[in-house]
Amino acid sequence: MIATTQLKTTNSEEIFAAAQKLMPGGVSSPVRAFKSVGGKPIVFDRVLGAYIWDVDGNQYTDYVGSWGPAICGHTHPEVIAALHDALNKGTSFGAPCYLENVLAQMVIDAVPSIEMVRFVNSGTEACMAVLRLMRAFTGREKVIKFEGCYHGHADMFLVKAGSGIATLGLPDSPGVPKSVTSNTLTAPFNDLEAVRVLFEQNRDEIAGVIVEPVVGNAGFIPPAAGFLEGLRTITQQHGALLVFDEVMTGFRIAYGGAQEKFGVIPDLTTLGKVIGGGLPVGAYGGRQEIMSMVAPAGSVYQAGTLSGNPLAMTAGIKTLELLQQPGTYEYLDGLTKQLAEGMLEIAKETGHAAWGGHISGMFGFFFNQGPVRNYEDAKKSDLSKFARFHRGMLEHGVYLAPSQFEAGFTSLAHTKADIDRTLEAARAVCFSSI
Ligand code: PMP
Repeated sequence: MIATTQLKTTNSEEIFAAAQKLMPGGVSSPVRAFKSVGGKPIVFDRVLGAYIWDVDGNQYTDYVGSWGPAICGHTHPEVIAALHDALNKGTSFGAPCYLENVLAQMVIDAVPSIEMVRFVNSGTEACMAVLRLMRAFTGREKVIKFEGCYHGHADMFLVKAGSGIATLGLPDSPGVPKSVTSNTLTAPFNDLEAVRVLFEQNRDEIAGVIVEPVVGNAGFIPPAAGFLEGLRTITQQHGALLVFDEVMTGFRIAYGGAQEKFGVIPDLTTLGKVIGGGLPVGAYGGRQEIMSMVAPAGSVYQAGTLSGNPLAMTAGIKTLELLQQPGTYEYLDGLTKQLAEGMLEIAKETGHAAWGGHISGMFGFFFNQGPVRNYEDAKKSDLSKFARFHRGMLEHGVYLAPSQFEAGFTSLAHTKADIDRTLEAARAVCFSSI
């Protein structure tokens, strides 16, 4: 058993106290404030490979990976070298750049549904744009999303994930007009019958279905056998589009994403995270006949000052090149299996109800006896136990996502020894501090 280190957090606390006066909640994105695990965030200083260091000099094994992009390990020397070269030629042209062709071709070659792609700056932007395109292509306004699935923070996706209220399309946040979300219908993940009913009740009104093919934003929830295939069939029957939001799963659970992994081909796909190699990027793409509607080829407007900038394209290209090396996904799968199965084993040994799993380099672990098939199931988790577990793991040098409702990520830089040490930490924390 490894000894608990008393985490030194003086600098983190000082910087975060100052940050709270400067930025809402002290952060640039809410989950970073550690609200659901006790509100004592760590302020970070640098990253390298599988590790992250905070401003007090503590080192952690990192299973957040900047929420997904760091699949090759942080600060990969080849990515950094390519970025240095690109920097010398400038950061942004606001005009066509050859590197866009290179990354576009790589995305088109990799992702089965994508014949044409548009680059944007974030996953949120990609999802906003894809919704406009779905509506324009079908001439319909309603859209189905799943409870607990996150598609960025645009108004029409911020719909409460609680069943009855959710289906009424009530907004999740003040400032989101009911008129905007009234066209957003929701169903529980893994529930095809609920989707069928929505299509029956809204005949010829539903533009399409958007889904995280493997949920990562309610914790890790895999699709039940036949669920994605069922969505494909139902959408086709009703002349609606199927959109896979692969911002998280794209190039992570397989090079060609969930659609390659499960063999279900959507009409449109959104991407982000990994394809930017750690720089801000998003993308959406699909069949040529649909993508040709996007301006200036067509009339569906969407634009961006920094879209397709040479730095982001460079980091993306180099990251995808690294992922093409043989054995990448087998390595991630083996490593993550060891972690996910090890965590469940330890929870069992130490008498904690737990449920979890992994697909390639994406994993999750709930303090919940499971099975976790949807957001309602996920919400049954013991959140205060997770908060204690999270703190205990930090004290043992392991940085997990600071919320029970977030998936975890491994990278090519993680080693078996890292996983062994992480499991040793988990065992110590499960025995003593929770
Ligand atoms: N879709 C999914 C599936 C995501 O996981 C995220 C981000 N976690 C987004 C969209 C939004 O992406 P971004 O944070 O880059 O706007």
